[in-house]
Amino acid sequence: MAEKVVFESARKADADMRQARNPAEDKSVIEEVDKVIAAAADTGATEVHLEPVQDGYTIRVREAGGALRKVNEIPERLKLNVANRIKVLAGLDITKSRIPQSGYFKMVVGEKKLELNVFSQPMLYGELIIIKLSYKVSATLRLAQLGMHPNVLAAYQKALARGSGLILVTGPPGSGKRSSIYASILEILKPDQLALGFDPVVKYEVPGMVQGKPEEKSEYTFAEAVVGLMRQEPDVAYIGEISNDAEARATIQGAFAKRVVFARMTANDSVSAIQNLTDMGIQPFLLVASLVAVINQRLVHRLCTACRQAYPADAGLEREIGFKLPDGSQFFRAGGGCPACNGSGHVGNLGLFELYRPSEELGKMIIAKEPVQSIRARAFKDMSFTLKVDGINKALAGYVSLEDVLNCL
Ligand SMILES: [Zn+2]
Repeated sequence: MAEKVVFESARKADADMRQARNPAEDKSVIEEVDKVIAAAADTGATEVHLEPVQDGYTIRVREAGGALRKVNEIPERLKLNVANRIKVLAGLDITKSRIPQSGYFKMVVGEKKLELNVFSQPMLYGELIIIKLSYKVSATLRLAQLGMHPNVLAAYQKALARGSGLILVTGPPGSGKRSSIYASILEILKPDQLALGFDPVVKYEVPGMVQGKPEEKSEYTFAEAVVGLMRQEPDVAYIGEISNDAEARATIQGAFAKRVVFARMTANDSVSAIQNLTDMGIQPFLLVASLVAVINQRLVHRLCTACRQAYPADAGLEREIGFKLPDGSQFFRAGGGCPACNGSGHVGNLGLFELYRPSEELGKMIIAKEPVQSIRARAFKDMSFTLKVDGINKALAGYVSLEDVLNCL
């Protein structure tokens, strides 16, 4: 249990509005609620639920693994005080309990800095309150630690060294795109430079980088924020998910100055990402002129080396993956679990990466608006090292299972 816990209310003035009846009981409620949240934060939990039941609250915590665990019960007579304690912290209106509300507060538990997003919702037996915990950690993962193949890493570092242009990081949700971008920023940001980031979720902190996020009640759009951010002339800019034409335009325009612009995009591959941008109305020649590289990535379970099980690659498997493998090749599958992997068969995740640096030839095809199929074929021809090759190499080396690799492509 962490020793030092500091709460920082979103609206400090509201503390006086708390409907305290018995000061001693109120104090114990505060302590109880704070203790539950601090304990949850200490164990890395992602949610704290106050679930209203007929005779009070059931408090459950969603642990990092995803399961909900009951940690406490609050009796009916303390229900309102408990709800109000959290609503005050989150800057919600405690005079209103019949409308859904959302807000947030910040908290420091030991060395951990957290942002807690609070949602309240009237239900049959009172207000359901869900607190989502997001942890602010310093980005420490370096580019060389992401697990890129040395050839991919070297080519990517060369692209970064250009010092300007747009770098797109694509992949499905949960594929580790943010981690790659933060590692890239750590790689290139010099102490005398300015980096600005704008992302709905600020997951990591980077020394020398100023970050912001859209607020529910703010009076500007994400695209306006991007335009404003570029006007400050950062050397490095990081734009969270591009999801519409205004955001795409603002991002691309920003990439025409002497700066590196990173942006995330949910897309299956580099060509789909390029296609998405042109579908959003970006002029192909602008895109071709600004786009420096596209990283496409996936995240797969890393096998526990203590209990993984080897099996030989046969002709059937070779046909399935479409490669001739060296004689005696073997793949691995997760074992039944052991103490080293807490019985799961896996230890964390490993990224699969492909890097695409658009060739002059491909640029001409994009500008000529050639069919996406030909553009895709050309891109694959340009790429010496695809996601599939990276995955199969990592499967042959026993880091990941072939099944996971094939499923994520
Ligand atoms: Zn194991």
